[in-house]
Amino acid sequence: MEEITLSHVLNFYKDLGVEYVNAKLNQKKHELDNITLFEKLKKEVENCKACELYKTRKNYVFGDGNYKADLMLIGEAPGASEDEQGLPFVGRAGRLLSELLKEVGIDRKEVYIANCLKCRPPSNRDPQDNELASCRPFLDKQIELIKPQVIVTLGRFAMMELLGKDKKITQSRGQLFKINNYMVIPTYHPAYLLRNPKAIEIFVGDLSKAKQSIRSFKWVR
Ligand code: URA
Repeated sequence: MEEITLSHVLNFYKDLGVEYVNAKLNQKKHELDNITLFEKLKKEVENCKACELYKTRKNYVFGDGNYKADLMLIGEAPGASEDEQGLPFVGRAGRLLSELLKEVGIDRKEVYIANCLKCRPPSNRDPQDNELASCRPFLDKQIELIKPQVIVTLGRFAMMELLGKDKKITQSRGQLFKINNYMVIPTYHPAYLLRNPKAIEIFVGDLSKAKQSIRSFKWVR
């Protein structure tokens, strides 16, 4: 007896005029391709020696969350806790961030969180230009794969990375900038909020604005 293959089944349905099955399969394939590309990118980060930071880090911090998120958050660089755990925003600032996301009705698991730098700068010093430039292709690829509608930059380094070095956090924070296929909303870094709790209300307002800016339109995934 002839073996019944997937193609037989699909052709059977196609002859009946069914097109939906095909579309679903394509979407699944695309999703699988994306997961593969994500894993490949992760490996590239793991093996990266483009700057000196790989020598002093404990773990690289690729990013975390929903790889199909509509909302992406971008921070500066891993700190001590992130370096220990290999995950972004898991220290004090990260806990505050999770709490404030929750306050505006955003589940942290539903967003994607990454940093400009994937390795911790020693003693939490500021990222250097060559480090930012070396790591930038990884961030660009993450954005390309995730295809967020809205990106919230946390702090001045992430803001300058996406919007340009001339931007000042005091002037640009809370504004919407259209870049390529997504919107960028710069806001304060959660570590700043720990030192300046009065700014929390403004930060929460910016997160709400980001949430409201997510529309029903999607990129073609
Ligand atoms: N600060 C950042 O910018 N990123 C982290 O992941 C943690 C602290």
